[in-house]
Amino acid sequence: MTDVILEKVGKTYPNGYHAIPSVDLSIEEGEFIVLVGPSGCGKSTLLRMVAGLESISTGELRIRGERMNDKEPAERDIAMVFQNYALYPHMTVYNNMAYGLKNRGVPKDKIEEKVTDVAQMLGLTELLLRRPGQLSGGQRQRVAMGRAMVRDPKVFLFDEPLSNLDAKLRVQMRVEIRQLQRKLATTTLYVTHDQVEAMTLADRLVVLNKGKAEQIGTPMELYNTP
Ligand code: ADP
Ligand code: ADP
Repeated sequence: MTDVILEKVGKTYPNGYHAIPSVDLSIEEGEFIVLVGPSGCGKSTLLRMVAGLESISTGELRIRGERMNDKEPAERDIAMVFQNYALYPHMTVYNNMAYGLKNRGVPKDKIEEKVTDVAQMLGLTELLLRRPGQLSGGQRQRVAMGRAMVRDPKVFLFDEPLSNLDAKLRVQMRVEIRQLQRKLATTTLYVTHDQVEAMTLADRLVVLNKGKAEQIGTPMELYNTP
């Protein structure tokens, strides 16, 4: 089933800069799509338009058949993970993960069940009472992912989530992200400028260049063509 559709989606910034001329993309339910391309090619712009953090200038975004263009981020049922984690420094790991659910008025016992469950999956059980300042970079990244996962969103968006980590941890977290995504089968749009990361994570890659989707295909199709 097609889950996310971008139809001739374009972006012109208020200063007149034409960042994305027109992108067409259909994402299947559970698919892991990686947006790759050089700095400034429009990866973040595209992701932020899907998240609702940037307005869509032209074209249409649909999620499960529903037009999203004019919906607020909170109405889109999407969870985004950033490279700078954006955790609340004064809150414990538990409360960082529970925050979004509390805001939605989810009952306390349901929150506890969900947070405990996700913490288990991410190896965070022993760290639930710590604060972000008492965690390593990899642990903080796991909390940021956990905060996104507890909400069971329709779509995960990742914006260069590993770029602040050292090389070894990057590889480890990459494997973990892939395993978790497979397990949860949540449709994922993942931005990176790292080709190896892109190839190892993606079901399909979208190679962006100057705001245009130059190539779309599986890693095999894009890198092993004779
Ligand atoms: P990437 O994520 O691939 O590095 P971005 O999506 O951040 O690229 O940026 C794409 C292009 O749009 C760049 O040329 C950038 O300078 C420009 N851009 C990004 N944000 C704005 C903005 N708020 N106003 C004007 N131009 C912008
Ligand atoms: P308490 O000190 O009452 O246990 P905290 O919220 O400070 O409550 O700590 C919760 C957990 O985090 C405890 O297991 C504690 O051992 C651990 N912890 C607290 N501070 C640090 C720290 N600076 N580095 C590593 N672990 C810590």
